[in-house]
Amino acid sequence: MLKLKNYINGELVEPIARQYISNYRPAVGVVYSLLPDSDEQDVELAVQAASNAFPAWAAMPAQKRGQLLLRLADLIDQHLDYLAEAEAIDTGKPLVLAKTMDIPRASSNMRFFGTAIQHFASEAHVTEGSAINYTVRHPHGVAGCISPWNLPLYLFTWKIAPALAAGNCVVAKPSEVTPMTAYLLSELCQEAGLPPGVLNIVHGYGHKVGAAIVTHPKIPVLSFTGGTTTGRTIAATAAPMFKKLSLELGGKNPNIVFADCDFDEAVATSVRAAFANQGQICLCGSRIFVERPLYQQFKAAFVEKVNAMVVGDPLKESTNQGAIVSEQHLQKVLSYIELAKTEGGTILTGGQQVQVPGRCAGGWFIAPTVIEGLSYNSRTNTEEIFGPVVTLTPFDTEEEVIGYANCTDYGLSATIWTQQLARAHRVAHQVHAGIVWVNTWLLRDLRTPFGGMKNSGIGREGGFEALRFFTEPQNVCVKL
Ligand code: NDP
Repeated sequence: MLKLKNYINGELVEPIARQYISNYRPAVGVVYSLLPDSDEQDVELAVQAASNAFPAWAAMPAQKRGQLLLRLADLIDQHLDYLAEAEAIDTGKPLVLAKTMDIPRASSNMRFFGTAIQHFASEAHVTEGSAINYTVRHPHGVAGCISPWNLPLYLFTWKIAPALAAGNCVVAKPSEVTPMTAYLLSELCQEAGLPPGVLNIVHGYGHKVGAAIVTHPKIPVLSFTGGTTTGRTIAATAAPMFKKLSLELGGKNPNIVFADCDFDEAVATSVRAAFANQGQICLCGSRIFVERPLYQQFKAAFVEKVNAMVVGDPLKESTNQGAIVSEQHLQKVLSYIELAKTEGGTILTGGQQVQVPGRCAGGWFIAPTVIEGLSYNSRTNTEEIFGPVVTLTPFDTEEEVIGYANCTDYGLSATIWTQQLARAHRVAHQVHAGIVWVNTWLLRDLRTPFGGMKNSGIGREGGFEALRFFTEPQNVCVKL
């Protein structure tokens, strides 16, 4: 059975304790590889390698660092089919999605930050008649990057690319649930000629490897994407150590549909926003609020489209819904469907596990589920489920729906469907969400600030925000 390795100081190495964790294939429900169950000793080696590599990497001209990232982007593109299949097998997501979204986005991340760093400038402030101030942006040293399982290579590269471009060396931990493409990336780093120690990938559990990264005194900057509970633990640990933190956390995103929307577009995109990647995207629109005059029509068209979705083998082109990432997560999602029933919800479609015949008989599948009849502030409507479960709720006024939208502890994203320009802006400005889409969903421009309000996180990723995060500004004042 394939044994993945850590990538430390440019080499693929076994974990020091020689312990391994089983890696499951969610669509089949069997172990298909083993990944290192690393611990603080492996993290220590990675930090040493990163610290040693840092002076030369930070001193390298930004253009040269950028070229290495561009080379990695090219290699990701060249291995698109191979990486996409690996991602689909490791996560259970449809191969089509991995091929058109996850892997292309991973190379875009590398390419974007490999070039962005060449356009990154700092400020100068002239104090009339007495001084000139200029800002130098230094890389921090060793950056810690911790990423989740839902978009493995996509989110892993979204962190390491700006960290490296800005001149930091990195110790990164992918989710132990989906380690495969980060491992394959380490092979590509060797092929690209990335200097040893610049990027180090340590596999293993969050409470061991993740915690060792978070508490390591030589890692002054941490970028984390994952659940709000984990984010809270990391923030509490890192705060007394005065570490710089970026936290991209959970969401419970409203999708607000006004009666004057472009109906066909709103229905089709709302289905995608609800169920893409089996609803396991932090930006999924899992609470759909529909203006009452349109409610019945929207509900009928939405449910019809959901019923037409094919749940099945992720490697088949006809599949729209693949497997849930793990058995544990499947149980969590099913428990929320049960909760919805006890809270008075009516299941309009789905609501149960699906048995896919043949090769995938042992896999973890859930039918896309649509629920109505719940109060806007029920637990089902306010807690993150992170699966193929969506609720429909009617509303009467703009004020009312803004209240519904803002009633959770989260504030990651929102979508608004209306043809009225003024209303679109008015509602967008009042919704507590770091990212608002009007008449679309998941349309991304990598230059824009990305992140959440309230319990959805601290800080923003994307564009120059990320490069600012991964650098320490220093002001130099020169008397004239
Ligand atoms: P988790 O918070 O469980 O894990 C995220 C990462 O943190 C994993 O690599 C995990 O390792 C690690 N980790 C766990 N505990 C610790 C710890 N104590 N110290 C350091 N690291 C730790 O999230 P999931 O992987 O379950 O991802 C799903 C969550 O991510 C959802 O809540 C989703 O909304 C959120 N998310 C947010 C996004 C955003 O941009 N705002 C984007 C995508 C997802 P291990 O795998 O071993 O547990």
